[in-house]
Amino acid sequence: MKFFSIRHTISFCFCVGLTANAIGQVSPLDPKYSVSTRKPLIGAIVAVDTIILGGTIVTMDGDRRVIENGAVAVKGDKIVAIGKRADISKQYHAVRSINATGRVIIPGLINTHTHVPMVLFRGISDDLDLQEWLTKYIFPAEAKNVDEAFVRAGTRLGLAEMIRGGTTTYCDMYYFEDAIAEESKRAGVRGVLGETVLDFPAPDNKTWDAALAYSERYILKWKNDPLIVAALAPHAPYTVSTEHLQAARKLSDKLNSPLVIHVAETKKEVDDIKAQKGATPVKYLENIGFLNERVVAAHTIFVTDEEIDILNNRDVGAGHCPQSNMKLAAGTAPVPKMLAKGLAVGLGTDGAASNNDLNMWEEMDTAAKLHKLISGDPKVASAEQMFEMATIRGARALDLDKITGSIELGKRADIAIVDFDSLHQTPFYNVYSHLVYATKASDVRTVIINGRVVMLDRRLLTLDERAIKIDANLYHKKIIQSLRN
Ligand SMILES: [Zn+2]
Repeated sequence: MKFFSIRHTISFCFCVGLTANAIGQVSPLDPKYSVSTRKPLIGAIVAVDTIILGGTIVTMDGDRRVIENGAVAVKGDKIVAIGKRADISKQYHAVRSINATGRVIIPGLINTHTHVPMVLFRGISDDLDLQEWLTKYIFPAEAKNVDEAFVRAGTRLGLAEMIRGGTTTYCDMYYFEDAIAEESKRAGVRGVLGETVLDFPAPDNKTWDAALAYSERYILKWKNDPLIVAALAPHAPYTVSTEHLQAARKLSDKLNSPLVIHVAETKKEVDDIKAQKGATPVKYLENIGFLNERVVAAHTIFVTDEEIDILNNRDVGAGHCPQSNMKLAAGTAPVPKMLAKGLAVGLGTDGAASNNDLNMWEEMDTAAKLHKLISGDPKVASAEQMFEMATIRGARALDLDKITGSIELGKRADIAIVDFDSLHQTPFYNVYSHLVYATKASDVRTVIINGRVVMLDRRLLTLDERAIKIDANLYHKKIIQSLRN
């Protein structure tokens, strides 16, 4: 939702271990492993780094193939083979095998909108209207607590939560975004990470010029990084002037970087923009030449049919955040219409202060049920459509669908392996139904991002869970104290 914020640095705990993998082979679990040093066993056998064996692969490719008793071979950062277990195990030999028998292998989930450090404000205040929530709690808490160390500690907590729930890519907007990028890179999580710029002093940059200069340095620093896409995030049409929105677009053109923005989130925003600019938010952004394929617009709740067409024609990505929108009683985006028109709309959690978690499984489930209820039609927002929004369509919204969002040859290996035998998943008839309506984040067992195993059998390999909790609880005390002062 919103935020505000401050500075110094906290040391990062990096965890590497040795353990037995799920199929019983003992292999080094250095998460930085890259290329196998083993030679192929015989001429016809190809050496790869990791093979996931057995299980049902939900590819989310163009044909929506679901492969029973399948296997996926990964070499370096890429998927090099997908098929039946029997065929893949004949042709490929891996340093590491992961047994997925009885499990489901899915593309890593894509969270198209959040403010990751805000996990440290989780539950700080609930059940209020937006203005009271923002002005009495969030803004003061941010003003008194947000600095670079806060952002780093919050990011590590959020990353751990996301990995545990099978999220492999997220789109963020906050302050000190370069620190968020560094933490994400270290943890091995893919991100489109937008530095928030707005017309008044922020925790990191006190003027517009300073914010733009910071953003340019930040974006250039991460150019061509395999995991991090550095972006510019003008906060919203009501917090950034026309002139500054145009300047942000110009900088984005120069650097070829995404533009992340909140759009049409509340009725008040629509009324204000209409009164001040003579057009509703999407039309206004179109009129001033802001929209293009690099724009990721969060919320897009109050949009007309014509505005959905504008977003579609400009190839804008949208981030639908059902739980945040419900909790703040903001409204409901016309998602079934967006899907029918082919818009690149994904799902997002929004910040944890307005959610209160980063759980994409709940977003899928909630989105399906919310749109059925609002439309009075249980046939809209099907389980398969919601899973698509959390994977390949979310990747499209972030302009990353060429590299992630599905399990396909040549794409980056962003994969989650999910248990399917818990009580709440028994019995099992339909894979999409189970993924959307029955599966919990705690059912995710193993997560691979860009070919690197970041969680194996529920054990985080790139983040220190214990240290993260200690840091978060220290902030809890500090935040409570700050609100008393
Ligand atoms: Zn937001």
